[in-house]
Formats: sequence, structure tokens, C-alpha cells
Amino acid sequence: MDRLARAMAASGLPHALCVALAREAVADGPEAWTEHAAIARAEHARRLLLTPVVNATGVLLHTNLGRAPLALAHPPSAVNVEFDLTTGERGSRQAAVGSLLARTVGAEAAMVVNNNAAGVLLVLAALAHGREVLVSRGESVEIGGGFRVPEVMEQSGARLVDVGTTNRTRLADYRRALERRGADVALALKVHPSNYRVEGFVEDTPVAALAGLPVPVVADIGSGLVDATCPWLPGPPPAWLAGEPGARQTIEAGAALVTFSGDKLLGGPQAGVIAGRADLVAACARHPLARALRPGAHVLLALQDLALAYLGGRVVEAVPFWRMVAATTTDLRARADAIVATAGHGEVVDAEAVPGAGSAPGVTMPSVAVRLAGDHLAALRAATPPIVGRVRDGATLLDLRSVDPADDPHLTAALRAARR
Ligand SMILES: *Cc1c(COP(=O)(O)O)cnc(C)c1O
Repeated sequence: MDRLARAMAASGLPHALCVALAREAVADGPEAWTEHAAIARAEHARRLLLTPVVNATGVLLHTNLGRAPLALAHPPSAVNVEFDLTTGERGSRQAAVGSLLARTVGAEAAMVVNNNAAGVLLVLAALAHGREVLVSRGESVEIGGGFRVPEVMEQSGARLVDVGTTNRTRLADYRRALERRGADVALALKVHPSNYRVEGFVEDTPVAALAGLPVPVVADIGSGLVDATCPWLPGPPPAWLAGEPGARQTIEAGAALVTFSGDKLLGGPQAGVIAGRADLVAACARHPLARALRPGAHVLLALQDLALAYLGGRVVEAVPFWRMVAATTTDLRARADAIVATAGHGEVVDAEAVPGAGSAPGVTMPSVAVRLAGDHLAALRAATPPIVGRVRDGATLLDLRSVDPADDPHLTAALRAARR
């Protein structure tokens, strides 16, 4: 066992971990007792560790790669998370970031939780526990792994009331449900169909129409697009964003609350934002679950930087996701040409990138990729840092729109290695 643990030491894993792995190898039988097998075992364990990777998939918000790329660059110091520097008294964790985010989307108030699923859960638990929530049959859906509206509803203690039909739900359907159920109804919940599309004979009821109902309308808009007009981009909003609801527009249309993710089109850390009427946000903040769902200082700091970037009109400069979106194909082609010329390998081809993270399904944005004949995915994943690409029609594509230009030298080095 000692011999195996020593062979594993080159992996850089802590000695105690190598000993534990060696113990497993001993239990597995003689074929695991060679030094070669021991090194492979340690290497496998090392490769399970979280590490920065180069996302060359062309999926800008890749759920398996942590969605929005983000630099958390704050020093390991104490932070005034719940401390008011003016009074010297205990402060609110949500106050500073909440009010900045509220301003960013044009809401009275906002608060932050760990992700959007937590946001929806908290809203339902705080505002509709033991009561009923109207949801269109067409929006009683599953979004991504495990976020299913009926199941979140059940966990919150609210009762789901199906309204309308799978393909068409009109305002009259909501009205009828309200007449029948009366004061039991706490909310109407509208869920954006983020990652799927129903086409043909379909109709849904927009927030502006629902806002006339005598119950608050909560809109789970999912993606966290701050403003559908994208004032931070030089031109008009890109075509692929058509149909994505903006938080600002949804609140203007009369939603009492919106909930959205921090790490989708907002471009920030994993978080969930609840924004809207101050009394409803306060009710959510007071609920016991709020404590269980609250984020830590690093997430709050990152969201604060993000909100300041939006408020300061520095989105393209400061938010990596929007910088990727704003890159022109001319920029991307120049980078691809330089990579291929320096590496002496690969060819530059047109490609199509996608926003990802279940935002804007079925749409693409023009991009540029470096193409290598054959499947090189495994070798690229073994590079330092690992590079994640995709294979299409028997060739490997490294899409530059999802790659930070600072990582281009890593692509060049990997291409050079692939030539040998
Ligand atoms: C992505 C999404 C969720 C889940 O958000 P997480 O931040 O991943 O928890 C919920 N609702 C909608 C509409 C979404 O698009």
C-alpha cells in the first residue's frame, strides 16, 4: 500500500488522500496493484477536481460548465455583509445588493437567494402556503434537471390550480378559476417556457393582461434579461433574444414580483433574484426559509459588482457573457486566423453559437470556429487548462465566441500539440 501511495504522490493530491486511494486499490485486487494502475487511479481522482476550463463549445451559458463565466476576484477579507458602516450596528444582508438590483430592473425592492429555483420556492412558501396558485396548463412544466413547477409548488405548501389547456390559456380561464375558488387563491404564477417552444395553435396570456386580476401576478422569467431593449449593446437587441422577457418590461407590465437566475442572461454568479413590490419582497425576506436559502458574501459581492456595471452602463466591458455576445464575427475571425497561423494547424470556419442555459431555445448567433479533422475531444480535455469543444460531421470544432481572448494561447498550444 505504501508503494502504491508513493506512486500516486506525483498527482499532487494530499498524502492522506493517496493512502485512501491506495487502500481502495489493494481491496480491488492484484490488477490494481501495479504502479501504472496506481498512477491512473490518482490521475482519475485529480481530474474529478473542479478546475477552470476553456469553453470552446459555442454554448455561451453552458450548464455543465457553470453557466455564466465569472471572475470572483475579491480578497479573502471580512466583508460588511450584515454590518452598517454608518451606524456601527447590525445591518441587513439583503439591503445593499437588493436595492441595487431593484434599481437595475426598475423594481421597488429585491432580494437574493441561492438560485432561481430557490426564489420560486420562497415566493410560493411565503405568499401562498396553504392557499392556491393559478398556473396555465401550458406553463406547468419542467425546466432543466429537476425544476418542475408542480413539484416546487408541492414543496412550498401551496396548491396548484391548473388553468386553461396545454396549448391555449386565455384571461377568461384565469377569471373563471378565480370566480370558482375565490379567496383561496393567493397568486397567479406565470412561468417562462425557457427551454422549449410550443408551436402552432397556441395562445398564452401576457403579464399585462394578468395584471388586471385581483391577485398578485408572479412571473418566473428564468433568464434574468434585465431589459429586453438591451441598452448596453451598441445596436438593436440581437435577433436571438426575441421572445425573452425583460425583467424591467415584466415589472412595467404589472407583475407584482419577478424571479430570475443570476447566472443566465444576467451574466453573474449562481443566484436567484426576487424583485418587485416592496411588501411582497419583505414577506419573502421574513419567511424562515429565507435563512436557509441565503447566499454568502462572495455571491453578494459579485452581484453588487454586476448591478453597478449595469447601472454604470459598463455591461459589455464588465460582464463576460455580454462581452462574448457583443464580439463581432470580424473580431472572432481575426482571432481564429491568428490561432491557426501560429499553431500551423486547423482551418477557420463559420459556426453557430447558442446562448445556452435554456435561454432562447432553437436560436443561434453567428460565430467562427477553428476546425480540426477527426475527434480530438479527449486530448483537448487532457490539456492544461482542459479545453472543451464539440465534434460535428467527424471534425472537432473550437468555437471562439465562448472563449475568452485571454485563453487563445491555450487553444494555440493545444492545436500545436494535436499536430504532432
Ligand atoms: C432556469 C430556470 C429556472 C431554474 O433556475 P436556477 O437558477 O437554475 O435554479 C426556473 N425557472 C425558469 C423559467 C428558468 O428558466
